[in-house]
This record gives sequence, C-alpha cells and structure tokens, in this order.
Amino acid sequence: MSAKRIYLDHAATTPLAADVLEAMQPYFAHDGYNPSSIHAEGRRARAAVDSARERIAAILHCKPKEIVFTASGTEADNLAIIGAARAARARGKHVVTTAIEHHAVLHAVRALRDEGFDVTLLPVGSDGVVDPARFGDALRDDSVVAAVMYANNEIGTIQPIAELATIARNRGVVFLTDGVQAAGTLDLDVTALGVDALAISAHKFYGPKGVGALYVRDGTPLEPLIHGGGQERGRRSGTENVSGIVGMARALETADAARATTNERVAGLRDTLEAKLTAGLKRVHVNAKGVARLPGISSLSFAGVEAESLLIALDLAGVAASAGSACAAGSLEASHVIAAIGGAAANGATLRLSLGRGTTPEEVERVASLLPSLVASQREGAALSV
Ligand code: PLP
Repeated sequence: MSAKRIYLDHAATTPLAADVLEAMQPYFAHDGYNPSSIHAEGRRARAAVDSARERIAAILHCKPKEIVFTASGTEADNLAIIGAARAARARGKHVVTTAIEHHAVLHAVRALRDEGFDVTLLPVGSDGVVDPARFGDALRDDSVVAAVMYANNEIGTIQPIAELATIARNRGVVFLTDGVQAAGTLDLDVTALGVDALAISAHKFYGPKGVGALYVRDGTPLEPLIHGGGQERGRRSGTENVSGIVGMARALETADAARATTNERVAGLRDTLEAKLTAGLKRVHVNAKGVARLPGISSLSFAGVEAESLLIALDLAGVAASAGSACAAGSLEASHVIAAIGGAAANGATLRLSLGRGTTPEEVERVASLLPSLVASQREGAALSV
C-alpha cells in the first residue's frame, strides 16, 4: 500500500503489528513443532501455547483452562452458541439473541433453528442499544442460551453486558457475548462482565488472522463442534496454531497496556472527523452518536447517495473505507444492522469509517476535506440521472 493511502477500515481488520510478527517468527520456523509431542521440541511449543494462554487469561481475569483457542472469531462464536445450546437441549430449546449481531452469531442461531431450536431475535432501539427490560421479557422458562454482542462492528454501540448477563444468570440462562470488536478496546474482565462465554479474534487488535479464542466459564456445559485428537481439553480438536496463538497473546497485551490512551486519542480524532463532516455537508446523519460506542467507529448515513459508488470514489481518492460491515464476503447487501436501527440511518448510503491506533490527525483532515466534495458530486450525478 503506498504511503499516501489512508486506511479507515480497522473494524474489518487491523494490520499485523511489527512486534507481533517478530514474536511469532520463531514458531513459523525452528520452534514450530507440535505441542502434543512428547519430545523436547514439542514441549517447547507446548510451553509457548501455555504461556500465551496464561497471558490472555490474565487480561480476561479468568483461569487459563477456561480459554479455548479456535481458528477465528466466527468459530469461537459458533462454538459458544451451538456448543452451549446443544449441551443444554435436554433442559430447553429456546435461544435469545439480537437483530444486530454479526453473521457469525446470526447464522449460527439460524443453524440451531434448523435443528429444532426456537429463536427470539431481539430488536434494538434507533440508538442501536439493547434494552435490558426487553431482554428480560424475552427470556422464557425453556430459554437455555442468550447471546448479545459486546460492541457492534458496524455502528460501534456498546451493549450493557454486565446488566444483561445478570438478568440471564438469574434465570439460569447461559450468557454469551461476542467480544470480537471490543477486544483490544474495552475491558475484557469476564468476572466484572459476569458472562459465561466471550469470543475474541486476534486480527481485530493488530494480531494475525485465522486465530481466535473463546473464554468459557468453568463448569459451563459445551458440546464440541470439531472432533478429533482432543486438543483444548476436548473442546476444540486440531493441532494448535502455535505462531498464531503466540501472536494473539502478544497483540492483546500490547493493546491492553495502551488501551486508555489509545482510546482517548482515537475518540478525539473520530469526534473531529464527525464534527467537520457534519459542518461541511447537509443531509448527513451520525449513527448512534449519543450513546456509548467504540472510539474508532464512525457510522455515517448520507441521503441521496449510493454506497457502492461512494466507496469506489473514496478508494480512487486513496481512502479505504467500508459500507456497513466488510465481513459478508465482499458483498454490498443492505446491512441488517442499519435496517434494525432504521430512521435516518437507513436513508441513503451508510459509510463506516473505522480509525485505528495508527490514524493521524492529517489523515482525518484529508478525509474531512475530501468526503464532502465526493458526496456532493454523487448527489449531483444522481440528480442528473433522474
Ligand atoms: N464478530 C464480530 C462482531 C466481528 O466484527 C467479526 C469480524 O468482523 C467476527 C465476529 C468474525 O471474526 P473472524 O473474522 O475472526 O471470523
């Protein structure tokens, strides 16, 4: 990528940090043995995985054995939801989640529905936040699992997880949270959150792609989805991705250590960007503006503009951004999250600008001066074509 390009798609993925790559390097090469092997080489790899597990557990305030390594955030979400629901099926068949979850959760509950589970999809308000009273009302005597994401990947809203988890646990319902967008930015203390399971993915916090982790509270029944050699205490078979796991631990430690200062700086840049864009343009709506949201995500809806053309124009101008989420395999389908919050958000094109720890004030300035003219010319083009 040329130095002049501006990357504002950190919610899709973050670049691998140099120190993380360095920490991983030996495990691609001379230390890359099988952690299940009895010999000294295998034991060295096992020690690296054990150390990573302990360091991740320290940040999550849990026991190392409560961490299960997976090959993605998607897999961690699937394991949590499908694994917990199947393990509880003798007790009940009702699962509760929200309309704004990532597809990793929504499509997992769809699979459960095909197996005979009954699913309630909770709506959210126009602010993109789940109402705890409504959540409580949705729970039934046969509810076994509830899943609410910690922070949304499209509009950045942060859900009242501790409150929701308490409600679920008081009803004997296993409570899971998709922490994939939150990890590296929000506090992952699972004890304070009171959750039974929490999923994370390394590539969202400057770690490698293809490695995730699931915290599962000790004693939470979970059916494995993958069967084989019995790794990860039988919860996720398959030879561990040693370099990936080492990289994830390193990346999480780095992100966690600088969390407060990074968040403050990034939120400041985001606020500047939003202030300049709303001053420079009419008919632009900042989604979820008044509520608690991630510092790096700005979701903006522009009336009279088409998302794909705006993204292409931005890309040609050197800015990498996204419409809603980039996770639906490059598709530009209307976002279910924007549809769920409705109102001004659903009017026109929604752009997600997601800032990262490397984003500079100069980059924000350039995008803030560039975007209004791109939007204006799209609007003129649309007016001419009718
Ligand atoms: N959950 C959320 C909220 C996400 O944002 C993503 C990725 O965008 C995922 C789950 C899936 O994680 P992964 O890309 O590691 O499969």
